[in-house]
Amino acid sequence: LADSRIEENQVKELNQLSVSYNRMLERLSDAFEIQRQFTANAAHELRTPLALMQVQLDLYHSNRHPDNDAETVQMIKMVTEQNDRLNKMVKTLLDMSELQTVGRDDEIILDALVDEVLEDLEPLAEGKNIRLIGKCKDITMVGSDILIYRLVYNLVENAIKYNHSGGQVTVTAERKEKHVYLSVKDTGTGIPEELKERVFEPFFRVDKSRSRELGGVGLGLALVREIVRVHDGSITVKSNPSGGTIFEVVL
Ligand code: ADP
Repeated sequence: LADSRIEENQVKELNQLSVSYNRMLERLSDAFEIQRQFTANAAHELRTPLALMQVQLDLYHSNRHPDNDAETVQMIKMVTEQNDRLNKMVKTLLDMSELQTVGRDDEIILDALVDEVLEDLEPLAEGKNIRLIGKCKDITMVGSDILIYRLVYNLVENAIKYNHSGGQVTVTAERKEKHVYLSVKDTGTGIPEELKERVFEPFFRVDKSRSRELGGVGLGLALVREIVRVHDGSITVKSNPSGGTIFEVVL
C-alpha cells in the first residue's frame, strides 16, 4: 500500500512538472512571436521615411549641380552611402521576420543554384582578382529556393569580401545518405577562434570599420543561421588549414 502511494505521488509530481514545462514552452514561443512581430513592425515603419529620403537623393543625383562646392558634394555622398546601408539593414530585418512564412517545398537543383550564385558574384570577385571554384555533384533537395540561394550567396559574398586580392573561394556540395553537405572555403583573413560563434549574432562584426568599408551591416550571417534553422540544418565555422575560413552547412 505504501509503495503504491509513493508511485501515485510520483505520477502526480510528473504530471505537474509536464504541465508547467508546457506552460513555459508556450510562454517562450509567445515571447519569440512578440519579438518577431516587433522586428517586422519596426522595419516596416522605417521603410517609408527611408524611401522618401531615397527619392530626394535620386532627384539630387539626376539633376546636375555644378555650383555645389566640394564639401557639399562630399556630404551628399556620405548621406547617400548611409541611406543605402539603412535600406540594406531594414530589408534584411524584414526578410528575417518573414522567414517562417516562406514555403519550403521547392525542388532545388543545388549544383545549378551554386553555379548561379557564382555567376552573379563573378564581377565582385573579378574586382579583387579572386578565383571562384564550384565543385558540386548533381544534387537535388527540397527547401525554399529563394532562401537557399540567399544562404549560398551570403556565404560566398563574405568569402570574397574578407579575402585577399588574388585569393580563392571554393564551394563544394555533396550528398551523404539523407543529408546534403555544403561548404564554402576561402583563403582570406580568417576569424579569431574565440569569435567564431559570435559572427552569427545580429550586428556582430570582427572589425567594424573594415566591414562598413566593404558595405556590410552585420546581418548576413544572422540571416544565414536563421535560414539553416528553418531548414532543420546546422552550420559550423572552422579555420582553413591553409589560411582563411570554412563554413560548413548540413541540410
Ligand atoms: P557583414 O555585413 O559585416 O559582412 P556578416 O553577418 O555577414 O556581416 O558577418 C559578420 C562578421 O563576420 C563580418 O563583419 C566579418 O568580420 C566576419 N566574417 C564573415 N564571413 C567571414 C569570412 N569568410 N572570413 C572572415 N571573416 C568573416
